[in-house]
Amino acid sequence: MTRRKLIAGNWKMNGSLATLAELDGIAAAAKARPDIDVAVAVPFTLITPAATRVPSLSIGAQDVHAADSGAHTGCVSAAMVREAGARFTIVGHSERRADQHETSQDAWAKATAAHRHGLNVILCCGETEAERDAGRAERVVQAQIEKSVPENATGDWLTLAYEPRWAIGTGRTPTLDDIAAIHAIARAKLRALIGDAAAQVRILYGGSVTGDNAAAILSTADVDGALVGGASLTAAKFVPIIEAA
Ligand code: PEP
Repeated sequence: MTRRKLIAGNWKMNGSLATLAELDGIAAAAKARPDIDVAVAVPFTLITPAATRVPSLSIGAQDVHAADSGAHTGCVSAAMVREAGARFTIVGHSERRADQHETSQDAWAKATAAHRHGLNVILCCGETEAERDAGRAERVVQAQIEKSVPENATGDWLTLAYEPRWAIGTGRTPTLDDIAAIHAIARAKLRALIGDAAAQVRILYGGSVTGDNAAAILSTADVDGALVGGASLTAAKFVPIIEAA
């Protein structure tokens, strides 16, 4: 089963109209790699200017609300980000789980809403350092997948991202064997949930991916790409990861 690699950036709460210029170099690198997919999730306020500036690049949101509209001050729906020009959204990111106390059930509802509105979804999972130290990483990831993956998911719209929380923004990464082990477990769990469709679902690794470690991580078994935070903010740091895929 061949799955196209996906290199996805997550700008988090960074960026401005001025820094959208970084997307020009990223889009050029993406054009030079027609064999892979490249995407960047920007803050809500930058979706339309980013999608307008680099129409060839897949621009996405970092979150959506599960409801289509209503009394949810400060929130943004899947329909809204779609209308703004997003082609995908991240859901269940560990920073939202930590900062906004989001659960895997919330991630399920958001993924379902996003799909209903025609967005592709990058659904995040991953254990904390304490959970890994306690030998519970595999069970935690399995439980997150079980609760958050919509039953109608297919690889046409769903991508899973394994992001150990302790590796995000820390410069630390699991061993390649540990990454391969979790990805294998994640794929087996997907198969148990959605059957043969699991074979098409991409599983990204995320957590301190850089130009230096990308080639090794991206050639690890069952790693179908990367979700990249800090190193996606500039073309100088993100393009080497695209080139390494
Ligand atoms: C992320 O936030 O999804 C991420 C992987 O961040 P970083 O690459 O900075 O560790």
